[in-house]
Amino acid sequence: SKENGRNCFSFYFEALKTDSNRVLKLDSELRKAIENREFTLVYQPKINTVTNDIVGIEALVRWNSEKLGFVSPAEFIEHAEESGLIISLSEIIFDLACEGNHKLVAAGYPKIPIAVNVSSIHFQQQSFLESVQTILERNNTSAQCFEIEVTERTVMNSAQETVSKLVKLKQLGFKLSIDDFGTGYSSLSYLVRFPLDVLKIDRSFIQHICSLDDKQAIVDAIIQMAHRLQMKVVAEGVETSQQVELLKSMGCDFIQGYYYSRPLPMKELIDFIQFWEVEHQG
Ligand code: C2E
Ligand code: CA
Ligand code: CA
Ligand code: CA
Repeated sequence: SKENGRNCFSFYFEALKTDSNRVLKLDSELRKAIENREFTLVYQPKINTVTNDIVGIEALVRWNSEKLGFVSPAEFIEHAEESGLIISLSEIIFDLACEGNHKLVAAGYPKIPIAVNVSSIHFQQQSFLESVQTILERNNTSAQCFEIEVTERTVMNSAQETVSKLVKLKQLGFKLSIDDFGTGYSSLSYLVRFPLDVLKIDRSFIQHICSLDDKQAIVDAIIQMAHRLQMKVVAEGVETSQQVELLKSMGCDFIQGYYYSRPLPMKELIDFIQFWEVEHQG
């Protein structure tokens, strides 16, 4: 009926309005948050399941907004990318990662690299390399202490420029990971062109790995190929011991996920490392 149609329309309209209100609020709160540097990092360990070494930790940004409460990085990173705020946000994240590195070194773990997620928008900036070097210098840290995670999509973008940027990052001393692998439709042969150290298999492949044979076959093939290309493999989003056992049997090098630890503030992460090392001594 007419009545219904109108209700439908106004419902739709209300939903749209709420949506755009949210975006406007997010935008203004994010700008303020960047100005006041209201962000923190949490860190999630990556474990070598054969040696039990902690081979690295991934830094993940957190924002607890006074007005909006906890906002997921998926939401505010996307908005930051669309609005151009990502460049200043990235610099804050890198500064925080440098602070994290100083804390790790002070706690006696100078050899555990911190992996920083780099947005493709930031990566593609002409000034990207320069800005990263400036941040390292002003924080008195070196590239060897960091790993850079770029997504498969970033790498797929503008191939030649990407190759030369990755080569330069490598020369500076960064370790390089390709993140979310499997989601971007790149062929594995494409990877030969990039100087990558580590391939991270996306969680979407790991999630049903124990029940779905086709996922197993894909993960198995990715691991084999990555090894042929001299890359190490991280499985991300690992939550169960069955997944750990299966991935180990496939030769997966490193594992990251809630099964070992959620992402933690640096202080708690250091407690975790101390506990872990005591548990796995000798
Ligand atoms: P990502 O880089 O793929 O990060 C992995 C995400 O999976 C993180 O979500 C992490 O908390 C979550 N995770 C880890 N282990 C498990 C598990 O066992 N089970 C499940 N269900 N989830 C797990 P988070 O922190 O919400 O980040 C989401 C995405 O936001 C990241 O995906 C990344 O794309 C982006 N992001 C987060 N922090 C940063 C950052 O500092 N810079 C940039 N550019 N992007 C970031
Ligand atoms: Ca990542
Ligand atoms: Ca990932
Ligand atoms: Ca992911």
